[in-house]
Amino acid sequence: MEYEYYHQQFLIAKPCLATQIPPEIFISICKDLPPTDLLSLARVCKKFYGYLCSTNSLTTQEIWRNSRMTFLPFVQLPPPEGMTELQYVKLVSERGCQFCGKSRIRKIYWPFLVRSCKKCLEERTIRMDQVRNQIFSQDSTVPDDILCGLTFTTGLYKSGCDKSPKIQPSSLYWIQDVHEVYNEFNKLNVKERKEWIEQNREKGRRKMEQNLIRGEKNEYGFPRFKMSVVEKCMTYNKAIVSPSTNPFTKRAWIGFRNKLIPEYMQIAAMLRSKRQEIERRMEVDVAIQTRQMDIVKMIFTLLRPEMERQQENHVQSVANNNMEKSSNSSSNYNSIVRMNSIFESSMIKFLPWCPSFRNPPFTNQDPRNLWDDDFLMSTLIPQLREEVECLKNNPAPLTTLCGAFLHGGLNNKRIYKCKLCSRHSNKTPFYSFFEVRLHLTRSNHKVRMIDDEMIQVFPFLDNASTSQIIPRNKTDLFFAAGFNCNLICKLLY
Ligand SMILES: [Zn+2]
Ligand SMILES: [Zn+2]
Repeated sequence: MEYEYYHQQFLIAKPCLATQIPPEIFISICKDLPPTDLLSLARVCKKFYGYLCSTNSLTTQEIWRNSRMTFLPFVQLPPPEGMTELQYVKLVSERGCQFCGKSRIRKIYWPFLVRSCKKCLEERTIRMDQVRNQIFSQDSTVPDDILCGLTFTTGLYKSGCDKSPKIQPSSLYWIQDVHEVYNEFNKLNVKERKEWIEQNREKGRRKMEQNLIRGEKNEYGFPRFKMSVVEKCMTYNKAIVSPSTNPFTKRAWIGFRNKLIPEYMQIAAMLRSKRQEIERRMEVDVAIQTRQMDIVKMIFTLLRPEMERQQENHVQSVANNNMEKSSNSSSNYNSIVRMNSIFESSMIKFLPWCPSFRNPPFTNQDPRNLWDDDFLMSTLIPQLREEVECLKNNPAPLTTLCGAFLHGGLNNKRIYKCKLCSRHSNKTPFYSFFEVRLHLTRSNHKVRMIDDEMIQVFPFLDNASTSQIIPRNKTDLFFAAGFNCNLICKLLY
């Protein structure tokens, strides 16, 4: 009683109960909120604002990221370079021009990362020929290449003094960017300028490629182009090696794209029919595993920019640290660490446990038939997304293989037994999840397709030891995560 009284006093003395919530609880509340609610919550008080708007907290990033992935199905790509999750969510989910406040504006200009009305965009952007006349007018020695590293958009642009009858598509640059880059350039000596331009050219190419992948999405929210196909197109290859026809900066993006598309379609169709011809002769179980990996690959196309960024950060950190000698084994280890974090942060981890992944609807009931990409994007992957949500929200009991692996944190504990061995002997060893799977495929069982019925789980085992065997390459990693890819290892590379 005394305690209760004291407790009540304590509550009354404090102005707001909400602000007393400890960070852990706050985070778990935020887990289930859509971005708009999070934005409102950030406006409640200083403390919440601090939790939700911190720019250097990983937890903050995670909260926004979760919310975005769950509630904004068409914004699955990670935020562009240099943008926090919060800025990204605000950009895509708020409405109105960021500059003049004009309401109902939704158009986002991705190269500039702004949501703007037409008028404000025009005031803040400039055409290439205008750059030369207006900004570089004092200095005819400035090369056009100076703008290589900048992003641009292609617009049908007509300024007040433009008398030309035709309105031509033209590259538009952000005026502020042009000024900044010009100032930077002016500080350099002749030799430095040459190097600087080279670097900028490369930077520009990568930026435009990112925009190509990011900006062009099909109706299902997936990238319109597969880079693996784009890289096979002559149009693309010619363009990136020739400095004189660098389409990523000088020529209008639209022109390049129009040339690329027919070639892209042709090559994509050719690759597909070649592949179908080969795979028609596959054994059924090999074909099933191949189809399952097609699903995984398609989902990875959504994650690709994120993986590339991680790769880049890694290269950067190696470059920054001269002491670090990047041997083969350590860089391999790092790639596994990166892959692991992709598994953890995406739906990939849950896939092997989804009914529609285990028994997918094959074209004409035959796994040897390729799926239409459209079917994957419009039907199967959305279905899998729902099943993943279901698995997340209704964790399976620990006594099941799925529960122990996904939710019990028990995948690395030796609590699994091979049921095939148990049939003949009472004294069979305990394995980790990865180990028991290796045992099934590599021992004299020679299992081709592992299923749950072959593995027994003992989740409450006392003193279960921890496995020392860890996946060392990409195939092992998928296999350890429960993917049946043992028959198609080579296809994974
Ligand atoms: Zn405006
Ligand atoms: Zn066995």
